[in-house]
Amino acid sequence: MTRFNTQLVHGLPGDDNNTGAVNPPIYNSSTYAFESVGAMPRWDYARSGNPTRDFLERQIAQLEHGSRGFAFSSGLAAIHAVLSIFEPGDRIVVGDNIYGGTYSQINEFFSRWGLRFTPVDTQDLNAVQRALAGDEANGVAPAKAVYFETLTNPLLKVNDVKALSALAHRVGAIAVVDNTFVSPYLQQPLDLGADVVIHSATKYIAGHSDVVAGLAVVRDEELGRRVYFALNRLGGVLPPAECDAVRRGLQTLALRMDRQQENAAKIANYLRRHPLVAAVHYPGLSCDPGYALASRELRGFGGVLSFEVLPGVNPAVVLDSLKVFRLAVSLGAVESLAELPCRMTHFELPREERLKIGITDQLIRLSVGIEDSVDLLEDLEQAFEQARRARVEVPEVAASDAAPAVSAVSAKTDARVAALV
Ligand SMILES: *Cc1c(COP(=O)(O)O)cnc(C)c1O
Repeated sequence: MTRFNTQLVHGLPGDDNNTGAVNPPIYNSSTYAFESVGAMPRWDYARSGNPTRDFLERQIAQLEHGSRGFAFSSGLAAIHAVLSIFEPGDRIVVGDNIYGGTYSQINEFFSRWGLRFTPVDTQDLNAVQRALAGDEANGVAPAKAVYFETLTNPLLKVNDVKALSALAHRVGAIAVVDNTFVSPYLQQPLDLGADVVIHSATKYIAGHSDVVAGLAVVRDEELGRRVYFALNRLGGVLPPAECDAVRRGLQTLALRMDRQQENAAKIANYLRRHPLVAAVHYPGLSCDPGYALASRELRGFGGVLSFEVLPGVNPAVVLDSLKVFRLAVSLGAVESLAELPCRMTHFELPREERLKIGITDQLIRLSVGIEDSVDLLEDLEQAFEQARRARVEVPEVAASDAAPAVSAVSAKTDARVAALV
């Protein structure tokens, strides 16, 4: 068997053309000819399956160590299909800080179709155990699944896939993991006991902000049959050209993530020492509460991190001043992106709920790309300098909580950047 990096580059090649092309062809055909009326061709209609999609689906199944993979037109289409395998009345325990689109799909769509959801803090295993068990005396049957994300967004809390999957199995439920922030390069959740893995391939897997796609991989054949039915009947399949874009992105997944993580670690260390930063959330920092678990279950810490600027520092000024980081939602691509969760990705959550789960108005999220780390650090430094100036100009900020004098900060600036690159 080949190893991970070789699998990224080559996948499981089919033998369906005799041109010698080193890349699998993009089959732009919606229909496939039957040899005769009685024939049972492998391909008949491209929603049901086509060779370009098949290549990607077999490759992601191989990379995630599952039995079968599926390619969808978006991450949310993948989540829709996976959640559709349940029946009205089934109860699913969900992480209380999952991706906003998933939260909305669950609460505004699936709840209308009779699925029931129990939100829970997946960091609290006792609470998860109670939520999974239900309350038979009061007519609440055990849950059918637990659904959570490996790393939470935007606070980068680490969820324990092994423990959460084991708790689910104890009550006969399955574990469904959104592995978007981690990718199979850093973890195969199925190896830790999960039953279904989902990706927004839009992010790390495709990796270039040029395609919207979703993937799902299942552990066993029976789940595979149910997810395939949902894929084919709901119809949110990934078209051939996009399948190829995802395949090409996958080839450099490991190379990209190595650089992204290296840069993210440097930035996290820089932020940790910055006088305008109150807190940094990155599981790769040894002082982070998720560090021990991440070191155990992940092969790296990923390229996304978030931080809070001090009260009185306007995070919008920091963001609006960035020149190398682009101000945009999404993550996982070669270019560095920055955003303000309370205004750009989590604005639909009522402020009180948002604050309850720790997403403050001062929180900035970074998705670190593959640029030169010096350029990224210098960009942050000059953006902080703008924010510091804006802060000093605010008359109501008392001298005692204002930042240090201009010259003192500037003098430290170069030394701080130089020490980290
Ligand atoms: C982006 C994202 C999704 C949704 O994926 P789309 O490709 O945008 O539909 C789901 N889960 C996570 C964790 C995401 O970051």
